[in-house]
Amino acid sequence: MVIVDNLRDGKAGPVFDHKGLFVGGRWGDSSDGSTIPVLNPATGETLCEVADGTTDDGRAAVAAAVAAQRDWARTPARRRSEILYRAYEAIVADVERFAELITLEMGKPLAEARGEVRYAAEFLRWFAEEAVRTDGHFGYTPDGGARAMVLSQPVGPCLLITPWNFPLAMGTRKIGPAIAAGCTMVLKPAPQTPLASLELAAVLAEAGLPDGVLNVVTTNRAAEVVEPMLRGGDIRKLSFTGSTEVGRLLLAQAASTVVKTSLELGGNAPFVVLDDADLDRAVDGAMAAKMRNMGEACTAANRFFVHESVVEDFAGKLAERMGALVVGAGMEPDSQVGPMIDAAGLAKVSELVDDAVSRGARVLTGGRVIDGTEIFGPVAAIQTFTDTDDVLQRANDTEWGLVGYVFTQDIDRAFAVSEALEVGMVGLNAGIVSNPATPFGGVKQSGLGREGGRYGIEEFLEQKLIVMPRS
Ligand code: NAP
Repeated sequence: MVIVDNLRDGKAGPVFDHKGLFVGGRWGDSSDGSTIPVLNPATGETLCEVADGTTDDGRAAVAAAVAAQRDWARTPARRRSEILYRAYEAIVADVERFAELITLEMGKPLAEARGEVRYAAEFLRWFAEEAVRTDGHFGYTPDGGARAMVLSQPVGPCLLITPWNFPLAMGTRKIGPAIAAGCTMVLKPAPQTPLASLELAAVLAEAGLPDGVLNVVTTNRAAEVVEPMLRGGDIRKLSFTGSTEVGRLLLAQAASTVVKTSLELGGNAPFVVLDDADLDRAVDGAMAAKMRNMGEACTAANRFFVHESVVEDFAGKLAERMGALVVGAGMEPDSQVGPMIDAAGLAKVSELVDDAVSRGARVLTGGRVIDGTEIFGPVAAIQTFTDTDDVLQRANDTEWGLVGYVFTQDIDRAFAVSEALEVGMVGLNAGIVSNPATPFGGVKQSGLGREGGRYGIEEFLEQKLIVMPRS
């Protein structure tokens, strides 16, 4: 496949090779022959067409995962670990190629795409290391009458559904632990950004992953393809990253066959700057928490709460930094802010700004004052506070609870506010919280379960008890 010639600053040539469904180790077309155009958000041009999987294709992918499950669960952990490690090495040896692909299909600047590739690869390395550490337990029952053994076993075939904002990393964050745990899987990537997932499948196959362990179904018919999978009874685990709205829907579908479910959903992150904060550090943190991935991150700071006594300074510094950012197509070397994913994403962000302005917001370089909506774009709205209890109440007054940010130099207040925020993660004087070695996830309607860290693999394991009387 040749991705159209004019998208790499005039450099022609094939960039990526995979655009079919990947089922049972084979690349193929959709069963009805239909395809989805993949667009470059910077230009609106079509990069290529990928297969548009049907309900039957989804069923075939589940069947392939089911067929591979028994042998894969019995495959030694060391071997699973080595496959992950080889894939990790292949990706880090090829950062530039993956980064270009991500920039082309998703729009983020190349520098950020390179960061995503390294971050994504780290999940494979981390779970290569975890694969060999799924310990069980042996002991005697308290009355001494029986031996109790607890084994960790793979949960079974998994359905993994990912969004478009981190096309590679959202995949490896699920695939890494699933492979490590001994699960087989069907991955359904977002239709806007299927190419990174297809290329990842090729790398894993090359690294020795047996046929059927990972199946990839690209589709523009998510509802039609996914619901039968969840209701069919063969899928034993759903791991979803995306909006809260879709997460709720899938949780209800998963309930029909009591599928073990992890959800990484939307955020509405508060960013709290107390009056004693180091403002330069807070502005650095704000730039990372707000502008990383053009604000198209679930961890993006959504609501800035700045103490009244420092708000002018903070806002002035932040506006200056934001105003200096270079906006441009992600493939342009100087670009720091790429395009929104699509016209709908752009329209949503513009509407939020217009609405805020119509309601009296003062625009420095951008702003919004609406509560209850995930922005998912580069808009930073600042509100003030004077009382810490009041700001905590406002910060927690949302159905979401993914992450919060706190900036202060007082250690007692730092802990008090971090402990009181109703979130799964806190950036304490830090604008980025994600790391493959630490648990990522939210409370309230931001999700269920954790990805990464020691906990990530647990989501793909079940404990089995074997009891044997002592004679
Ligand atoms: P989305 O609309 O919920 O879509 C996510 C995925 O779900 C896509 O692959 C999508 O495919 C699929 N999907 C949508 N409707 C479905 C249905 N009825 N049945 C089965 N699958 C369905 O979210 P998005 O716009 O791609 O991503 C942005 C959201 O993800 C934001 O809310 C963001 O906060 C969240 N996010 C959360 C995390 C986290 O770790 N907490 C990380 C990144 C992003 P289609 O596009 O074909 O519908």
